[in-house]
Amino acid sequence: MYLLNGQMYTASGAPLQDALAVAHAEHLRPRCACTERAAPMYIARATGSFVVKRMPCTGHLHSLRCPHHSHESDASIGDSSQPAIQRDPVTGQVRIRAAFAMSSGETGLSLHAGRDHGLREARHRFTLCDLILYLWNEAGLTTWRPEFADKRTWAVVRHHLIRAASSTWVNGTPLTQALFVPEPFSVAKADAIRARRLDRLSRYLCSSPARDRRMLLIGEVKELSTSALQPRVVIKHLPDTIMRLPPTASGLHADQTGEPNCEPPSRLVIGATFSLNGGAALTINEFQIVSMSAEWLPARLDALWRGAP
Ligand SMILES: [Zn+2]
Repeated sequence: MYLLNGQMYTASGAPLQDALAVAHAEHLRPRCACTERAAPMYIARATGSFVVKRMPCTGHLHSLRCPHHSHESDASIGDSSQPAIQRDPVTGQVRIRAAFAMSSGETGLSLHAGRDHGLREARHRFTLCDLILYLWNEAGLTTWRPEFADKRTWAVVRHHLIRAASSTWVNGTPLTQALFVPEPFSVAKADAIRARRLDRLSRYLCSSPARDRRMLLIGEVKELSTSALQPRVVIKHLPDTIMRLPPTASGLHADQTGEPNCEPPSRLVIGATFSLNGGAALTINEFQIVSMSAEWLPARLDALWRGAP
C-alpha cells in the first residue's frame, strides 16, 4: 500500500498508475504505508508505466514483510536500479552522483528542473537531503542506545561524519577535501579554530586554477532568516560567520507534507554547497535542511527547507 497525496493505493492496479502519473508530473513523493513512519519513495518511469522505488539507504525503514525491506544499507547501494551511488568492492570507495553542483562549471541538474530530461535524470541522483541521510547512516548516527545519552555531542557527530565521508566522492570530488563540518567552537580556542577554518576554506576555494569550486557544508542551523532583503543563515559553532542564502530562499516556507501535529524539530541540520563570492563573503549556492531529534536522529526523511539559485 502506498500513500500518495493523502490517499491510500494498493500496489497494483489502474488507480495507482493514474495517481503516479499525476504525482510524477507534479514532483510528489509517494510513501510506503507498511509502517507508521511511511518511508519516502520515488517514482521511476518504466516502459508504459510508473514504478515506485525505494530511496537509497532506506530499506531498513520498511517492515520485514514489505517487498522494499532491506536490512543492509549496502543492499540498496548494490542495486543496479540506483545508479546514483556505486561502491567499489575492492577499495571501498563510494561514488555518488548528485543533482547539485560541486563547482560553478558543473551543470547542476536541479538548475534545469523545468526540463523534462533534466528532471528525470535528477530523480536518479542524490539531493543534499539524500547525502545527509546517507552519511548519517554510514556514520552509525541513525541508531540510538541508552548509553549514548549525554555522549552524542557535536564533536562526536562531527568525528563520525568526517570518517564516514572519507571514502566518499560526490560528482568526482573527494569529500576528504570538499566537506566542511565546523569544529566545536570554544571562546578560549577561538583564534586557533578560526585560523584552521580560514586555512581549510581558502586552500580549497581559492586554490588556482579551481576558483569556481564549491565546498559542501554540513552543520546545525542556529538562526535562519528568509527575509526578502537578506536571506541568510547562521550555523552553530560558526558564531562569527554569516552565510548568505540564494535569493530564492526568501519567502520559503516549511514543507507542509509533514504530520500537522508533530513536535517542532529539536535540531535543523543543513546540507549546503557554498563558495566565496566577491572577496570574503561565503555564499550558499544550494541547500536543504532536515529536521533531527535532540539525539541527532533524523526525524523526517525529506527536506524541510530548500533553496537553489
Ligand atoms: Zn514498505
